[in-house]
Amino acid sequence: MAKKRPTLIVNHENLRHNMSTVVGWCRDAGIDVAGVIKVTTGLASAALDYESCGAKWIASSRIEQLARAKEAGVKVPLLMIRVPMLSELDEVVKICDYSLQSSFDTLKAIQEAAAKNGKVHNVILMADLGDLREGFFEKEELVDIAVYVENNLDSIHLAGIGTNLGCVGSVKPTKEKMDMLADWAEAVEEAIGRPLEIVSGGATSSLIPLFDGVMNPKVNMLRIGAVTFIGPLEDIRTCYGREEAEVLSDECFILEAEVIETNTKPTHPIGELGVDASGKVVKYVDRGRRRRAILAVGRADYGDIDDIVPVLEGAEVAMASGDHTILDIEDCKEQLRVGDIVRLKVKYSALMRLTTSENITIEEINRQ
Ligand SMILES: *Cc1c(COP(=O)(O)O)cnc(C)c1O
Repeated sequence: MAKKRPTLIVNHENLRHNMSTVVGWCRDAGIDVAGVIKVTTGLASAALDYESCGAKWIASSRIEQLARAKEAGVKVPLLMIRVPMLSELDEVVKICDYSLQSSFDTLKAIQEAAAKNGKVHNVILMADLGDLREGFFEKEELVDIAVYVENNLDSIHLAGIGTNLGCVGSVKPTKEKMDMLADWAEAVEEAIGRPLEIVSGGATSSLIPLFDGVMNPKVNMLRIGAVTFIGPLEDIRTCYGREEAEVLSDECFILEAEVIETNTKPTHPIGELGVDASGKVVKYVDRGRRRRAILAVGRADYGDIDDIVPVLEGAEVAMASGDHTILDIEDCKEQLRVGDIVRLKVKYSALMRLTTSENITIEEINRQ
């Protein structure tokens, strides 16, 4: 039987190379990694890779993904990194060992859920240091709540504090922000009279203070997803173009799409122009007649054409509809014909969508 296309090839060897490298960088700085698998929609085999490469936690923003990791045999503690809904606390305490928390009401409800299920649930209280997503905004408030959890909620263990940066607010994880987190952690430790196990300094972007050698030594956990899975392909978004990331592979995931037409056509549409398939007014550049290939994959699968990059030298993604991708192949040495397979690297948003699309067949190679 012919292989079902489009296909997303998961190369586990490349994945494990990236995971070991990232875990190694962190280990050298006294930091443990929570391996964040949400960009793969919780591919359990990737969670197992991360575990075997030294991740001390497996983390995701969705409880279903953590449940799958657990079912697949992940042994390290599971960490829920999206502040949980009240309506899922029962599952959270059953499936996860740790969660990030930023609301007093939720903490009280977790106490009940954990007690009911005979569990002690570990929490990391989040500090909002200016990025404006989750977290307590005032140091005093975070300290007061930490003290309350420590003294009054016996089915919750206060494991540490953490922060999230470089997300909705684009705030860089500078040395100042890491020092601020350490200062908040010290304030909590002083108030509760014991050290915290965890000071969680952020996501991929918090590798920057680490690369620069200015990471506060109190930070001992980073929650890392993007750079591990995407490598240097999306270096600006994940790692601000740091050359350190260039030793990582950007071919952990490859989208294979089939050519359904090749033709030489004008590059500027002919006729009175209105809007495109998604209702947008588009500016077209007239580059004369050029060779084009149509791929049987589209924005319904990967989202935005900026998030896929052809491996084939000289090829360029020109435009796309929901189910078609027009590839400019005028400058390619290779000829493409109908039935040929084109390989594309994928960025973060594309990977997130491809792993949820029912049109995509996932094929895993080099599994452990
Ligand atoms: C998504 C997420 C991460 C991982 O971010 P990457 O940029 O993919 O490394 C870490 N922490 C939290 C709270 C997240 O939501």
